[in-house]
Amino acid sequence: LVTVSGLQKSFGDNHVLRGIDFTVPSGSVTTIIGPSGSGKTTILRCLNALDVPDAGEITIGDGAVDFSARPVPRTLLKRYQAQSGMVFQGHNLFPHKTVIENILEGPLIVQKRGRDELVVEAEELLRQVGLAEKRDQYPHQLSGGQQQRVGIARALALKPLLMLFDEPTSALDPELVGEVLEVMRDLATQGWTMVVVTHEIRFAQKVANQVLFADGGTVLEKGTPAEVIGNPKHARTKQFLRRLL
Ligand code: ATP
Repeated sequence: LVTVSGLQKSFGDNHVLRGIDFTVPSGSVTTIIGPSGSGKTTILRCLNALDVPDAGEITIGDGAVDFSARPVPRTLLKRYQAQSGMVFQGHNLFPHKTVIENILEGPLIVQKRGRDELVVEAEELLRQVGLAEKRDQYPHQLSGGQQQRVGIARALALKPLLMLFDEPTSALDPELVGEVLEVMRDLATQGWTMVVVTHEIRFAQKVANQVLFADGGTVLEKGTPAEVIGNPKHARTKQFLRRLL
């Protein structure tokens, strides 16, 4: 279970998150939709402590962190950060490492386990994202969609409680979007707990258990896809969806 309550974040005078509250039950998928600049990426970055919240409490698994009680001890922050894995828009693989080395990098540094055992797991992850045969290639030899799938395998390798996806398909050519969404759909079926920022409304409709509509640093509307996408209450949500659908 993931709970976020009273999450606030400013950058200088820019009050980006103005009190965000939501819950993600274990094994469920939450998608965050909303206009550009509404704070969607910042919510994910706070869930991973890439940005440290100014206030609010976030619980991932059994580790609650109260960001209002500053400063948050470094060791606590590190433990908190290790509970989630993040997949970015793209371009975040190590260019001079092969696919398998990209996946092994995190576990080798973080987990004190034997390399052979980790290689077996990494190969299994590559099979899962459909890239077993790309094991020894370099990122530049792969398509954007394949690189994103390696990025997903790399995040999974650390076995996080929570998987975060920040517009994982938005930098891809349209014909490559489907293969990445398919891998994400598989993960959802396998019971991964996921928070996905996306403009792929159809993915949200089919795969999400919960949809959050972010606007102006708040969650204006939340509910099932049928509620938020199928029957939005707020004029802002309706206006946003009209442009996308
Ligand atoms: P998009 O759909 O365009 O990615 P978003 O909803 O994900 O937008 P955020 O990326 O969270 O929005 O940004 C929200 C606001 O916070 C923007 O005004 C942005 O300029 C600001 N912001 C984000 N990160 C930083 C930062 N590191 N320093 C200063 N301002 C930032």
